Amino acid sequence: MQLDKLGEFGFIERFSEKFNTLLPTASIGIGDDCAVISANELEDYVITTDMLIEGVHFLKDKITSFELGYKSLAVNLSDIAAMGAKPVASFLSLGIPTTTQVENLDAFMEGYHSLSEKHNLPLMGGDTTKSLKHLAINVCVIGRCQKGEARLRSMAKVGDLICVTGNLGDSAGGLQVLLQELEDSECNKTLVKRHHTPTPRIDEGIWLTKYDAVRAMMDISDGISSDLQHILTSSKKGAIIEIDKIPTSETLKKQSKEYNWDIEELSTSGGEDYELLFTIDQDNFAEINKQYQIEFSKKIFVIGEITDGTSSIVWKKHGEVINKKNTGFNHFTTK
Ligand code: ADP
Ligand code: MG
Repeated sequence: MQLDKLGEFGFIERFSEKFNTLLPTASIGIGDDCAVISANELEDYVITTDMLIEGVHFLKDKITSFELGYKSLAVNLSDIAAMGAKPVASFLSLGIPTTTQVENLDAFMEGYHSLSEKHNLPLMGGDTTKSLKHLAINVCVIGRCQKGEARLRSMAKVGDLICVTGNLGDSAGGLQVLLQELEDSECNKTLVKRHHTPTPRIDEGIWLTKYDAVRAMMDISDGISSDLQHILTSSKKGAIIEIDKIPTSETLKKQSKEYNWDIEELSTSGGEDYELLFTIDQDNFAEINKQYQIEFSKKIFVIGEITDGTSSIVWKKHGEVINKKNTGFNHFTTK
């Protein structure tokens, strides 16, 4: 069988169970944004690793080396944020074609350093090898949180509100600007910036996990239609999503009109926004949202509700159920 029949998650499922049976108690293995391992009596470590391959995750001529260094760390920090943890160390491995300019590698490390500095995060090791053709980047980040407080995809409960920390679809819009080689207007540049330099929601993740009412959490890397599916499968629940409540930026609305983009598709299936997707107990939402606004000067966006369903999403628009296919980014399968 060829891998494209199976897809990324189908492949992982073939072996994850076998390895998860080897886990010590109170550890979390394959299947969440990070693995969780006990650190001491008071704390857990969370660990994540993500790879970026030239031609697959980025196009060398479209992204600056500085941005690439920044983004390589940002996508990993986003998984740490998804657990509600604080990052404590990173590791960077590079496979580099021999013809690469050292100035570009310096700029890459500058970008990586700029985000590391923001989070006071030391780079503590890695590996450097030759690559025959393409640049390959692998980052691993270790984080720390209070014992048993990491938020898992399996923690959603019926009646929880489904929330996101910010606008969705900008990154996918930015990718369209690059692929369609659209003009260098201010609006287009804003979208491309969201695609190349996403903000990992570390502070928000840590803040939200102060509240027991904040339950399942993950980051949005593949688009909510695919990512929410992971929460539903792990929690064995269903969901109603009100597509008209999904927050989108004014810039994306404007450019979608201009270029005839399907904004609903970009905001649900585009991916790479790296906002947090999480569920909150209804009864505590108003108070948490009030405190959140004081802390972050922005609100929590409610886009739906967890139901007693069968791991699937019911999409609604203006209160009516609509037919929508759940797509999202998946390596190996064609969209
Ligand atoms: P994320 O988008 O949050 O980085 P992924 O969708 O890439 O997560 O991966 C889903 C889960 O599968 C994660 O727990 C990840 O660690 C695990 N995983 C992915 N690839 C492998 C692999 N080759 N070996 C072991 N675990 C893997
Ligand atoms: Mg993730």
